[in-house]
Amino acid sequence: MIEIKGVTKKFGEITAVKGISFAVKKGEVLGFLGPNGAGKTTTMKLITGFWQADQGQVLIDGLDNVTHSKESRAKIGYLPETVPLYDEMKVYEYLRFIASIRDITPEMILPRIKEVVEICNLHSVIGKSLDELSKGYRQRVGLAQAIMHNPDILILDEPTTGLDPNQIAEIRELIKKIGKEKTVIFSTHILAEAQATCDRVVIINKGQIVAEGRPEELAQALKSQELVTLKLRAKGSEVTTALATLADLKNIKIVSEEAGLTTVTMESSARDEGVALGELLVKRAWPVCELVRGGVSLEEVFRELTK
Ligand code: ATP
Repeated sequence: MIEIKGVTKKFGEITAVKGISFAVKKGEVLGFLGPNGAGKTTTMKLITGFWQADQGQVLIDGLDNVTHSKESRAKIGYLPETVPLYDEMKVYEYLRFIASIRDITPEMILPRIKEVVEICNLHSVIGKSLDELSKGYRQRVGLAQAIMHNPDILILDEPTTGLDPNQIAEIRELIKKIGKEKTVIFSTHILAEAQATCDRVVIINKGQIVAEGRPEELAQALKSQELVTLKLRAKGSEVTTALATLADLKNIKIVSEEAGLTTVTMESSARDEGVALGELLVKRAWPVCELVRGGVSLEEVFRELTK
């Protein structure tokens, strides 16, 4: 449905995206992750046709989005990072305005507004001025304008930024609901959101794709960095002996000491390491305060890939 092929975009000296390629299948909800300045907004604007690539090509349903700009744009609904709302308008006036500029025929305008009001649950604010709305409702109105012309593709740039946890949950549910029928790309800083909402995740850093896959696959890829934290109550020479013995096990990473409590963090690439450690602890009868194996979350994958 969407193919990004070797796309580069420069702004003067800055190369915002560097020869990136990825594809999004029909019906897929893709999470687009990356730290500030990674190139998320630029990529989304290249897909919508707002920017043109310096190199490479974006295909929407097989058509080049530059040479077939009008057809491509008709297939895309876009919610920018800052929702373009005219504050002096009432919600229904704004939606009517959007419907008219999206070439919806006059007789279809009212029925379509009713549908998007239903989908985005805007009944209670339909007669209010846009400047009276909470951020959550403004975002819903933004989504309503993005889906007004019933596009197959939705591009949502950080749709939950600045919302409170309840509003985030509501918008997430709305994205899931819309995502059942449409192809969605949405960018986010909230990794749990990508994990909860997306079929697949693309991580971008410094204009380049650094990882791509289902959320659980990405976590699996970093499994070798699973950590084991061991806290021993040991002092002075006991610590030295303990450390010397533990050093025979591979991958000891960090050792810190606080008030007589020695904390050893081990990078465990194999489960065997944990078994060997357990045997050692039993043999030595050291007073163990804590032994924890940490799983790898998408949050850690993200930090590891974009640091
Ligand atoms: P954020 O999460 O902060 O929104 P982002 O991942 O969306 O960041 P972009 O907005 O795509 O990142 O920016 C990528 C790089 O391109 C940054 O270095 C940014 O300063 C630069 N950039 C983006 N738009 C322009 C522009 N119109 N003119 C000049 N530089 C730009």
